[in-house]
Amino acid sequence: MRDLQALPKAHLHLHFTGSMRLATLSELAREQGIVLPEHLLDNQALHVPADQRGWFRFQRSYDAARAVVRSEDALRRIVREAAEDDAAEGSRRLEIQVDPTSYAPFVGGITPALEIILDEAALASAATGVEVGVIVAASRTRHPLDARTLARLAAAHAGDGPGQVIGFGLSNDERRGNTADFAPAFRIARHAGLAGVPHGGELLGPEHVRDVVAHLKPARLGHGVRSAEDPDLLARLVDAGIALEVCPTSNVSLGVYPDPAHVPLPQLLDAGAQVALGADDPLLFRSRLADQYRIARDVHGLDDDALADLARSSIRASLASERSKQAMLTDVDAWLARDPVPAA
Ligand SMILES: [Zn+2]
Repeated sequence: MRDLQALPKAHLHLHFTGSMRLATLSELAREQGIVLPEHLLDNQALHVPADQRGWFRFQRSYDAARAVVRSEDALRRIVREAAEDDAAEGSRRLEIQVDPTSYAPFVGGITPALEIILDEAALASAATGVEVGVIVAASRTRHPLDARTLARLAAAHAGDGPGQVIGFGLSNDERRGNTADFAPAFRIARHAGLAGVPHGGELLGPEHVRDVVAHLKPARLGHGVRSAEDPDLLARLVDAGIALEVCPTSNVSLGVYPDPAHVPLPQLLDAGAQVALGADDPLLFRSRLADQYRIARDVHGLDDDALADLARSSIRASLASERSKQAMLTDVDAWLARDPVPAA
């Protein structure tokens, strides 16, 4: 068995606040005299049922964590530490999603909030060797006009270098809002060359995946795991080259599946889906990127060849330049060429 931390990979599903280290969360809270709920600091993975009350508990925890992020320094620290933590796990490319709206009041608006994050993403890329691209994500719980405002902001910062906006997303409770209403925002983003990477097929099934594909024309789906429930739909996603950002620990924490063995990773791979494993919100789920590959190995029985394929798939599904992708793919070959260490 080869070291999964050393396997070169791309991390395509990580939220800004959800990436925070526990120590950083408690330090930022202490600095500001904010008392956090005990369950945020107990190092236990969140576990809620996949209903609206469960989502509400998740969202409340998330909001409590976000409330400690109130300065430029805090924004910069979160980006930097996310890149450092990714680097330690063999990630070569991080595509981090952020909705700058919540931080805007503390730094003078959504434009400075995003520009601080982009600037730090460029610095962190240079410092860690992990290419950090930023996805601006709108929220389903806000008005679709807010999503358009964010899409225009994202479009103004679009590019493919480190510290530029590379994609446009849509997050929060999939059951909220009307997907078609967000189509104009995604059109703005698309016209600026940004890839659409909305969440879909996590809390809702194939029916909603069809809606998301029809209205938002995604390049990738955040989660998309429940498309496994409909082989025809899954075949369509595969044919269309729509990659799936699969986050096993997140699915279990949010009650989508009872345990990692029920996450339909093998079915997705058997159908030829392009899968990129992601950690989603390690702050709340207490499980990071390499852990998702460990689940693929330990729970789903993937051998090192299959794990290397999974890493290649994450790299191909990323929005990195062709040159970067080739360099990363060459390093995956090198990982596989190493002698495996016998299992202890
Ligand atoms: Zn997510």
